[in-house]
Amino acid sequence: MASSKKLKSMVKMGIKILLLAVVTSFSFLLFSPPPKSFYHTLFISTALSDNVSAAQHLWTLTRRPHVAGSEANAEAAAYVLSIFTSCNIKAHIASYGVSLTYPVSRSLSLNRPPPDPPITFSLRQEIYDGDPYADVADQVLPTFHGYAKSGTATGSVVYVNYGRVEDYVMLKEMGVNVSGSVVLARYGKIYRGDIVHNAFEAGAIGALIFTDRKDYGGGSGDARWFPDDKWMPPSGVQVGSVYDGVGDPTTPGWASTEGCERISDEEVDKTGYIPRIPSLPISAQDGHTIMRSVEGQVANQDWQGDKDAPVYRIGPGPGVVNLSYKGESVIATIQNVIGVITGTEEPDRFVILGNHRDAWTFGAVDPNSGTAALLELAERLEKLRKGGWKPRRTIVLCNWDAEEYGLIGSTEWVEENREMLASRVVAYLNVDSAVYGAGFSASATPQLDELLKQATQQVKDPDNSSQTVYDSWVGSSNSPVIGRLGGGGSDYSAFVQHIGVPSADFSFGEGYPVYHSMYDDFVWMKKFGDPLFQRHVAAASVWGLVALRLADEEFLPFNYLSYVSELQKSAKDLKDKVSGMGITLIPLFKAIEELAKAAIKIDSEKKAIIESKGWVSIWKKEHSRVRELNDRLMMAERAFTDRDGLAGRPWYKHLIYAPSKHNDYGSNSFPGIEDAIEEAKNLNTAESWLTVQHEVWRVSRAVRHVSLVLNGELT
Ligand SMILES: [Zn+2]
Repeated sequence: MASSKKLKSMVKMGIKILLLAVVTSFSFLLFSPPPKSFYHTLFISTALSDNVSAAQHLWTLTRRPHVAGSEANAEAAAYVLSIFTSCNIKAHIASYGVSLTYPVSRSLSLNRPPPDPPITFSLRQEIYDGDPYADVADQVLPTFHGYAKSGTATGSVVYVNYGRVEDYVMLKEMGVNVSGSVVLARYGKIYRGDIVHNAFEAGAIGALIFTDRKDYGGGSGDARWFPDDKWMPPSGVQVGSVYDGVGDPTTPGWASTEGCERISDEEVDKTGYIPRIPSLPISAQDGHTIMRSVEGQVANQDWQGDKDAPVYRIGPGPGVVNLSYKGESVIATIQNVIGVITGTEEPDRFVILGNHRDAWTFGAVDPNSGTAALLELAERLEKLRKGGWKPRRTIVLCNWDAEEYGLIGSTEWVEENREMLASRVVAYLNVDSAVYGAGFSASATPQLDELLKQATQQVKDPDNSSQTVYDSWVGSSNSPVIGRLGGGGSDYSAFVQHIGVPSADFSFGEGYPVYHSMYDDFVWMKKFGDPLFQRHVAAASVWGLVALRLADEEFLPFNYLSYVSELQKSAKDLKDKVSGMGITLIPLFKAIEELAKAAIKIDSEKKAIIESKGWVSIWKKEHSRVRELNDRLMMAERAFTDRDGLAGRPWYKHLIYAPSKHNDYGSNSFPGIEDAIEEAKNLNTAESWLTVQHEVWRVSRAVRHVSLVLNGELT
C-alpha cells in the first residue's frame, strides 16, 4: 500500500473514532444502551467499514503460495490469530494431523502420427510480464491433482467432453470404446474427482483434464488473457483435489487428533473415495496439442471448443500419451484458527462464521478474499464493542485449513466437537471465495431465506450506490434465486450434511477463469476482481449483519414456511420421476403438510409471547419460554438428519441435502431417493423399486420429526 493511502486511512480512522465517541456519549445521555438494531445499522455503515484494511489483509495473506500443511500456511494462520487477538477476540489454534498428498514427480509425453515428432510437455505455468510474484513462483506446487493415484498410463487418447455420465452414454452410442485408453476431458461442468471416477468406470487407464478456452477464455485482440484481461492464460492449469470423500481419508467419521486411530492405505482404497487411475490437470495449450493428434469421428457441436480451437475429434488415437504421476502421502499438521466472542445472555448458543485459509497457489480469490472479509468483519465487531455493543449469543469466527484437499479442517473440527455443536449451534455462515466480481449470490438452508433477503435489503450494492445488494441480486425477477447446500463445494458440508445445522454460503461474482491456477493472485484481484475492495466490504457487511441478527435477536429469525415450499417443489419434481412405477408419495406429501402446520403454529406462539409481554420488556420472566421456543427452531434442522445416513454413504446424515453420487458439485434434494431411483432405473427389478419406496418413507419420517420438534410436544 502507498503511504498516502495509509495517511488517508489514519485520518478516516480518526473521524470514525470521533463518531463512535459521539455515539457512545449520546447513548449515555439516554441512560440506557441503544437497541441492538442501532449497532447493526452502525456495523454496515461507512463509519465502521474499511476497504483499505481489507486490501491490506488480502495483500499480506497472499504474498506467498500457501497450500495446506506448508510453512507459509502456518504463517498465515499466525497472522489471522494475531488480527483476532488485536481485536480482543479470545482466539486459539485447533491443530490436526491429517493425511495430505504432494507431487513428487510427474511427466507427460505424446506420440503423434508422422511427420509430427513426439512431444514432452513442460507442465509449467509461465510467469507473466511484470509478475510481482516471480520471486516466489517456484514455491507454487507443480501442477497435480490432490490424492491422485501414483502410476503410469500409456494409451491412445479418447476425447470425452466434460467427462459426465451422459458423455459416456453418448460415446457408447457412437460406438467408441474407452477401455484401455487415456481420456482427455475438459473442466467446467462436474467435480474433477468425478471426472476421474467416471473415466475409471468406463474402463480408461488414465485421465487428463484441460482448461478449455471455451469455458475459461473470452478476451479478444491483444488483451486475451491475464494480465491484460481476466481470462486464463494458455499455460494456466486448474489444479485441485480428486478425492470424493469428506475430511481426512484416514479417519473417516472421527477427528484426526494426536495419536488417534487411522485406517490403513488398503482400507482407504476400499472406501472408493480415492481414484484408482492416475490423472493430471493440463493447460489449454497442452490440451489442444493433444487434441490435434486425435482423429476419428468429429465431435458434436456442443463438444467443440471456441473459434480458435482445433476441430475436436473423438479418437481413439492415433495420438498416444504417456502419463506418469508420483505423489507422496504425509501426515501434515493443519491449523484451524478459532476466535470466540462470548455472548452475554446466552453464551451457550453459537453463531459460527467460517472461511478457509489454505490455497492451491496464492489464493487471492479462493479463499483469501473471504479471509480478508472475515478479518475486516472482526475489526468492525471490535469497534462495535468499543461503542458498547455486546452480543446476546456467542459468536465464533473460524478460519479453516485444508479445505482444498477435501473440506478437511472444518470436517475434523465438526467431528471432534459433534455433540457440543449439535446441541448449541444456531447457524453456520460460510464464505469461501468472497469476491471474484460483481453480483451477489447465495445458498442456504431454507429457514434462513427470509433473513438473507432482509439483510441484503439493508446493505448497499457495492457497484451501484442507488440500490441495495438485494436489488442487484433480484435483478428483473420477483425474488432472488437462492441456491441450496447439497453440494460438497465448501466447508458448510459437515455442518449441514453431517450434523444438520442451518447454514448459508455467499459470494460476489460470476465465476472466475483463473480458478485454482497460479494467476489467482493479488494483481488479478486488484485489476479485475475488486479494484476498490468495496465488494469485500459489502461481503463483510452481509456476512456480519446476518450473524449479528442471529446472535442478537431475542427470537431466532428462522422461517420454516420457506422450507415447506422448498420441500413441496422437490416432491413435485419427484412425482414425474417415479410415475408409473407403483411408488406412492402420499406419506411424503402428508408429512410436508404437517410441517406447514407446525411452521405456522410456532410463528403464532412467538407472536403470543411478544403480545403477552406488553410494551415493557419482562425478559426475565419470559426468558425460559423464549429460550424453549428458540431451541425448537434451532433443533428442527437436526431432525432432517438420520443416524444411519444415506445408503452406502453413512457420513451424509441429512436426508434432504447431500451431493449427488456422480457429481460432488451437484445439489440434490432427497439424495437418498434420487440415488435409489437411478439404481432402480438401471436394474429395473421389483426389489429395486421397493428400495425407492423405502427411501421415500425415510424422508417422510424425517420431515415428520421436524414437525414434532417444532411443535415441542411429546406424542
Ligand atoms: Zn475455496
